[in-house]
Amino acid sequence: MWSYMPFAQTLIHWYQRHGRDLPWRHTRNPWHILASEVILQQTQVKQGWDYYLRFIERFPTPQAMADANEEEVMTYWQGLGYYSRARHLHAAAKTLATMPTMPQTAADWQRLPGVGPYTAAAVASIAFGEAVAVVDGNVCRVLSRHFAMDGPIDTTAGLRDIRHMAQTQLPPEAPAAFNQAIMDFGATVCRPRNPECDTCPLRLSCQAFLQGRPEAFPIKARTIRIQERHLIYLFVLTPDGLWLRRRPADGIWPGLFEPLSFEAETFDEAERQCLAVLHTLTPNAQPALLAKPFIHQLTHRKLHCSALWWHTDTTLTPTNGFQAVGLAHLDDYATPVPVTRLLKHLSTITKA
Ligand code: SF4
Repeated sequence: MWSYMPFAQTLIHWYQRHGRDLPWRHTRNPWHILASEVILQQTQVKQGWDYYLRFIERFPTPQAMADANEEEVMTYWQGLGYYSRARHLHAAAKTLATMPTMPQTAADWQRLPGVGPYTAAAVASIAFGEAVAVVDGNVCRVLSRHFAMDGPIDTTAGLRDIRHMAQTQLPPEAPAAFNQAIMDFGATVCRPRNPECDTCPLRLSCQAFLQGRPEAFPIKARTIRIQERHLIYLFVLTPDGLWLRRRPADGIWPGLFEPLSFEAETFDEAERQCLAVLHTLTPNAQPALLAKPFIHQLTHRKLHCSALWWHTDTTLTPTNGFQAVGLAHLDDYATPVPVTRLLKHLSTITKA
């Protein structure tokens, strides 16, 4: 006989019947669970799936990743974005490789680089059965809707209430099942838009549904203002190769490689900067369009991306931190998602 609350009971029942069959659900290996959780932060499950399998095949243990250099780790991460996650995971692997045994509690996992309360709770509950609740966006949504919690989740007090509610609902005898159930339920049934309330097993107790306004929850104190920016990439191709430079260690895409880039509030301003720099290389340079303009969406920024390329038979010495990279070696350089996309266009053109 189950001793826990109907809310948890319903979710676990649902999970046993309808939970997604995901590769990281078949393991209690804490390193593999950690890798899956870090990969899935800010990444769709569909996209993260292959990355996870490739990752644990190449880095089956913390030691295997600790022995790899950063360039290789970044190459395996390329395309997932938010590259600081990979750097932190690499740092965590180095720390874990020095430990005689894996940490067992969420508090100990949280001492590792880049491991926050959510990831620590996921690893400790799933791998070691610690009765600690996970709180991510899915959990916030399910709890705030079901219990009609009106504290804004982007305030300290609102988040504290959610954490408390999650911990109160968590059945101590089944923390792994509950945590995975509520996250999966939030991702597939109680979705941000168009939740499946009509067939939801919680609808008779869900306060938001009973009030007729499920999508009003979770409540937020402030909505994020999306900034629109224009970004022009200039691919300079010389006899020695393509000019690439490593981005700074802070800001977006830290430490990744990119061609010349010009970002501004307007397209005209970005273009003016781009042409001014190109004309310092050679006054009569005529760049060509590399690809159709496209939009790359970041959390707080909508980037309108354009790309030009310019080819010269004259050998030029790269300056300002750029290096000429032979086209055959481009795969060794981890690049931001828009650059990776544009490199495919460049490769088609240069092979033609
Ligand atoms: S009834 Fe709707 S809002 Fe409530 S838990 Fe179910 S899917 Fe979410």
